[in-house]
Order: sequence, then C-alpha cells, then structure tokens
Amino acid sequence: YDLRNEDLRDMQELGQGNGGSVKKVEHVPTGTIMAKKIVLIDAKPSVRKQILRELQIMHDCNSEYIISFYGAFISDPNICICMEYMDKGSLDGIYKKIGAIDIDVVAKVALAVLEGLTYLYDVHRIIHRDIKPSNILFNSRGQIKICDFGVSGELINSIADTFVGTSTYMSPERIQGAQYTVKSDVWSLGISLIELALGRFPFSDSDDDSDLSDFEGTLSPSHPLPPKRTPIERDKKKKRKSKGVSLQGGGMTMSILELLQHIVNEPAPRLTPEGRFPKEAEEFVDSCLLKDPDARKTPKDLLKHTWVEHARTSNFDLEAWASTF
Ligand code: ATP
Ligand code: MG
Repeated sequence: YDLRNEDLRDMQELGQGNGGSVKKVEHVPTGTIMAKKIVLIDAKPSVRKQILRELQIMHDCNSEYIISFYGAFISDPNICICMEYMDKGSLDGIYKKIGAIDIDVVAKVALAVLEGLTYLYDVHRIIHRDIKPSNILFNSRGQIKICDFGVSGELINSIADTFVGTSTYMSPERIQGAQYTVKSDVWSLGISLIELALGRFPFSDSDDDSDLSDFEGTLSPSHPLPPKRTPIERDKKKKRKSKGVSLQGGGMTMSILELLQHIVNEPAPRLTPEGRFPKEAEEFVDSCLLKDPDARKTPKDLLKHTWVEHARTSNFDLEAWASTF
C-alpha cells in the first residue's frame, strides 16, 4: 500500500489513548478497512522522519499473533500508523461489556500473547513494553493479536517527552528503574490475565471503576518514586475526583505513587479466591508475577507450561465465543 491521508475515509472512532486516537477507516482505492492510529508528536521533522523509518520494521513482523501493519505516514503534525482492523476491539473493552472472561478464553489469551512476545523477541529482538488488555485485540474469526509494541526507540522517546505516561502494569523492577527485558512483559501479562479473569483491575475494589490502570503523571525511570504527589497528578485528581485506588479488603484509597510502592513492596496479586480457577491457571499467573525478575521465566519458557500447552490443544471454539457478544 502507498498510503496517503487523502485516500483514507473516516468511518468510526475506535478509542482514545494517552498518545492519540484510533479510527476505523476505509482505504478508498482498495476498499481495505484499517485502523488508523494518530499519534500526536511534538518533534522536529528530522525526528519524525527517523520514527517513520523505524516503524518500517513492522512490515517484517509477520505472525498470526501480531497485528498486521499497512504503513505509516506523517500528516503534519501527527504520525499516522495504519494497521489491521480488529472488529471485536480490545480485551479491556470486551470484559467491560460482558464481564469477567471465561478462564478457557484467558488461557488462549496467555498462549497468543506468549507466542506474539516470543516471535517479536526471537525474530526481531523487540521487547513489547506495553502489554495490557487494551493492547490485546480480538476479532470475530476468533483471533487474538497484540499491538502497540515498542518498535521505534525514537517514538518511545518522543512520547516520553511530550507526555510521561506510567502504567500500573509495570513490573517491580521497572518501577525501580531497571531496564526493560522480556520478563517485564511477562509481569504485565500476569496482571492482565488476572484483570480479565476477575473482570476488574487487580489492584482495585470490586466494581467501582476507581482503578489506576492508566495514569499520566510525571514519573521518570531515573526518579521512580517521588515522595509527594506531582502537580500533574493533583490536576488529574481535581478533574476526575475518584481516581484513587481501593485495595481489596481495605477501604484505603491510594495515590498512583502509593500504588507503585505497593507493587514494589507487597506480595503480588493472585488469581483468587482459591479454588475458583484451575490449579494450573493459578500457578501460571503466580509464575508470571514472581517479583524477582531472575526467578521469573521468559515468554518462550512459559510456552511450555501445562496450562498453556492445554490451551494450545484445547478445542474451545473462540470463533463461537466471539459470536456471543
Ligand atoms: P494507551 O494509550 O494508554 O496505551 P490504549 O491502548 O487504550 O491506551 P490506543 O492504543 O490509542 O490507547 O487505542 C485506543 C483504543 O482503540 C483501544 O483501547 C482499542 O479498543 C482501539 N483499537 C486500537 N487499535 C485497534 C485496532 N487495530 N482494531 C480495533 N480497535 C483498535
Ligand atoms: Mg494501545
């Protein structure tokens, strides 16, 4: 595809994230339906061109577990990334619509994400860096694919410059300023799987949506835990009054920084209550959420876990499941 903005007809807004928005569009010359991500970037033209060059790697990412890439272009002042459209959207949208997700589906999600991560790392030496339910997409053919991985170092930098996003899917070692490794993605997968199986973010109370699964504030890896709330966070608090986290059991409300401290200092969340889920599922999630990254396995090793092996051979019909919502 030789993509130009004039050839894309807007059809529908699919969602908004921290860095921009995503629209369903039609590439009129070919009739192809795509998802167009518009990334707002405040960077010099030379940097934008560099980002565009780096994004081309996505053309070589060919896996059934990775969203296909159609192309990217600059549409001043934005960068537009056109990718495969997934008609059932992201898994966060799905569980918010239908409630907690069947553990057999969650097992298929684990398998797909591990396959995707293993492909990205083994073939391209790419670490995803942003595994969370909104970056795991589903379609009516029953396919599960990951998107929004960190292909472009320059894009990661630019986004970090324009807004500093911190996500609470972040592993304890990352919060403490360590480098990203594939094992950080494994932690994020563990948190995401609990969220899908319980139908809520694991660090939040039952059904109010006062979780902190996403947060934009000023936190930098080199200065991970400032003691006080930042000005940006205070503004946020004003705008969205109830953006505190209520820990399970207690009625305590936490700020984002307290939550990050909690992730570092307290035992990791688990698939609870005990006995509600298969033993292998509990054990798989526990092994994703080992706080010591040296003890935590890589995606490739986790593909050998019995729960995941069972998911691979199970005849659970994802396409039939997709037709129920
Ligand atoms: P963040 O910006 O914090 O990473 P996010 O992942 O929700 O959050 P975006 O990546 O901008 O933000 O995506 C916004 C929404 O658009 C997603 O939640 C998802 O529901 C939808 N979306 C993204 N890509 C696609 C796609 N290829 N097909 C269908 N829907 C998509
Ligand atoms: Mg996303």
